[in-house]
Amino acid sequence: MTDALMRHALRDLPRYTSYPTAAHFSEQVNEPIARLWASGVDPSDPISIYVHVPFCEKLCWYCGCHTSVPNGYDRVAALARRLETEIGLWAEALDEHGGAAHIHFGGGSPNALSPEDFERIAQRLRSVFRLRPDAEFAVELDPRTLRPDFIEALGRAGVNRASLGVQTFDRIVQTKINRHQPYEQVAEAVRHLRAVGVKAINFDLMYGLPSQTEANITDTVEQAVTLRPDRIAMFGYAHVPWFAKHQKMIKDEDLADSAGRWAQATAADEALLAAGYVRVGLDHYALPTDSMAVAEKTGGLRRNFQGYTTDPARTVIGIGPSSIGAFEQGLVQNAKALDRWNAAIDQGRLPVERGLILTHDDRIRAAAIERIMCDLTVDVAEICPRFNAEPDALDDGLYQARLLAADGLCSVEGTRITVSPAGRRLVRVVASVFDASLTNMPGRHAKAV
Ligand code: SF4
Repeated sequence: MTDALMRHALRDLPRYTSYPTAAHFSEQVNEPIARLWASGVDPSDPISIYVHVPFCEKLCWYCGCHTSVPNGYDRVAALARRLETEIGLWAEALDEHGGAAHIHFGGGSPNALSPEDFERIAQRLRSVFRLRPDAEFAVELDPRTLRPDFIEALGRAGVNRASLGVQTFDRIVQTKINRHQPYEQVAEAVRHLRAVGVKAINFDLMYGLPSQTEANITDTVEQAVTLRPDRIAMFGYAHVPWFAKHQKMIKDEDLADSAGRWAQATAADEALLAAGYVRVGLDHYALPTDSMAVAEKTGGLRRNFQGYTTDPARTVIGIGPSSIGAFEQGLVQNAKALDRWNAAIDQGRLPVERGLILTHDDRIRAAAIERIMCDLTVDVAEICPRFNAEPDALDDGLYQARLLAADGLCSVEGTRITVSPAGRRLVRVVASVFDASLTNMPGRHAKAV
C-alpha cells in the first residue's frame, strides 16, 4: 500500500448506507410528516419492510448495534405485541401500494423472539402488507442462541434467506469479543436451515477484531466456505468505544493498525476469490449464481440501511425501536429509546421521532454515491439529466475525484469516475467526493479501512 493510500485509509467516513447519513437526521421530521409521506406512496410501487428486534441474549464486545439484554422473556413478549400493533399502524397510514417485495428482520437478534411470536409477527406482515410471490424474506440470526424450534418456525413462516453472524472461528478472537460459537454449531444451523427450506444463506465475517491476524482470518474463511454460504460479507470492525460502550471491553493494544487491517482484508479477499466467490461492491462476496452477484453484473445492485441489497423498493417501512424507513420525500427514524417507542405505540401513534427531508441536491448526490458504492463507477453525465439538473451540478465531485486520481484511488475520464483496483477498498473515500454534508467529525464514522 502506498503512503497516499494509507493516508486515505485513516480517514473517518460514513458507510453510505444512505445519503445524507443518519448523523444529519433531526426532529424536523415527525409523525404527521411520516403519515403524509406514507399516504402518498405510488400505488404500483413495491414496498420493503424492515423489522428491528433490539434484544440479544448475550452481548458481543465489538457490537455497535442498537440492542440490550432483556433478562427474561417478559420484555421481549411485550415488544412482540407492540410490533404487531405497529404493523397495523403503518398499514393504516399507507395508501395503496404494490405489495411487499422484501421483508428483513434485523437487530439485535430476531431469534431473541420465541418461535410462536416470530411466526405470529411474520403472518401479520404477510397478510397486512400483501407479500409478493417472488418476495425475499430474510432474517438475521445469532447461531449461538438459535434453537431448533426457531429454525422450524422460520421454515413454516416462509423465510427464504438467513444471515448468520459468524465473525470468526478463532477461539482466541472469540474470547476477546465475548462470542463463543464453534464451527460445528454454525454447521448444524446451516444444515437445519436448508432442511426446512431456507435455501439462501449469508455469513457475516469480520476483520480488524482484537487478536485477528492474516493467518487466523484465512483459517476462518477456509472453514466458512466449506459450508458454501451464498453470500459472505467481510466487514471491518469499527472501534468507536466513545459511541458503543461495550467496545470499552476491547483493548486498543489488541487491535491491528491500518496497515495490519489492510493486510487482513487482503488475506480474506484472496481466500474468498480462491474459493470461487466473486466480489460485490466494497465488502461483499457471493457465489456467481447468487442474486446479488447477478445484480452486480446487471446494474441492479442497490444500497440501503441494511447495506448492499437487491431490493429495488423506494419505500422502506421501518418497524421497531430505532428502525429507519425511507420514502420518496425523505427518511424517517423511529424512537430509539424503548420507553418512548412503547409510549407512542400504546397511544396509537407512529413512533417516528426524527428524519430528514431530501432536497433536490441530496437526491442527485445520493444517486451518484450509490452508483460508486455499488458499481465502483459513475458517469455524472448520466446522473444529472435523470434529475433535470444542470450538467455542472456535480462538478465539485469531479474536481475532488481528480485529486484522488492523482493518489491512485480512481480514474476520471470526461465525466466518468472509476474506482481503480488499488482504490477498491477505499471506495467510501471516492464516494465522499459527492458528499456535500461531510463535516469534520473525527471519530464519528468508521475508518475508511
Ligand atoms: S448478537 Fe449481534 S446485535 Fe447482538 S450483541 Fe452480538 S453483535 Fe450485537
